[in-house]
Amino acid sequence: MNDTAQPRSDPHSRELHVRVHGASAVRTPEPDDAAAREDVALRLAAWWEANARDLPWRFGRTTPWGVLVSEVMSQQTQMSRVVPYWIDWMARWPDARALAEASKADVITAWGRLGYPRRALRLQECARVVARDYADELPRTYDELTGLPGIGDYTASAVMSFAFGERIAVIDTNIRRVLSRVFLGAESLGGSASPAERALAGRVLPEAVRDSVTWNQSVMELGAVMCTAKSPMCEACPVARDCRFLKLGRPGLGERRTRPRQRFQGTDRQVRGLVLAALRGLPAGATLARADAETLWKDRAQLAACIASLDDDGLIEMTQDGALRLPQG
Ligand code: SF4
Repeated sequence: MNDTAQPRSDPHSRELHVRVHGASAVRTPEPDDAAAREDVALRLAAWWEANARDLPWRFGRTTPWGVLVSEVMSQQTQMSRVVPYWIDWMARWPDARALAEASKADVITAWGRLGYPRRALRLQECARVVARDYADELPRTYDELTGLPGIGDYTASAVMSFAFGERIAVIDTNIRRVLSRVFLGAESLGGSASPAERALAGRVLPEAVRDSVTWNQSVMELGAVMCTAKSPMCEACPVARDCRFLKLGRPGLGERRTRPRQRFQGTDRQVRGLVLAALRGLPAGATLARADAETLWKDRAQLAACIASLDDDGLIEMTQDGALRLPQG
């Protein structure tokens, strides 16, 4: 479906709304209606209190650096998959200085199957700057945080809110989807955040600092576990009675502006992952002979391109005879 087509509403959703809330008109929140916003915030806060997943970086149990590591690992990887990696990582490198001093090979190996391994090297670059320029303490301002390697708007905002308890709108895919559905009655179509979505996130953010933190956490959690892209669980949702999207019959449910994610099988990501997995399995400092590397994937041209791109990204090194190894730095 293209962007200009009218979204269809889902008749089941209309029935669902009536079944859950009765046939009478139900007030739905306008972004500028402070009382309605507060009502939504209270429901979400109560739901968060009772249902938040007990992730090890939540509830003040780690340092700001630990929060940052969790956010970097969770980009493009489900939080439930991140937990064991985060626990091992923080036990080994509990602060920026420890990570800064690790070998690249150890960092890439510890990243394991989290995917998108360039994130591991960027995180180590970030650690080096924090250790060197900020005496091993994560800086607290937005400008300083976004000035660190690999730290963009989302991660900086998340750290400021979740680690430092500052009032700032956190904007990720889950939050955009929930806010758009509840307050605008429309799907957030993905892609990068629009100025309108940023403005909405700022308008509905609770004034009180503490409430703003709970708001960010609870809206994000709702989007992760209940108000999902394709199958929102409206029957059990704490803000169902306030949700414009549900009231309108969930128009255009699941529509995306961006193309669906490429399947993994046969992609360069898979091939790069196979090469890195083979190198991770070697003893420290050992090399993989080129002939052995060439048994990893039958399409030689694709394999060679992937090896070259891993080398360009600094994730592997090639010796003069063409053997491969993890970076020795
Ligand atoms: S789960 Fe359903 S009712 Fe709840 S916010 Fe999402 S679309 Fe609205």
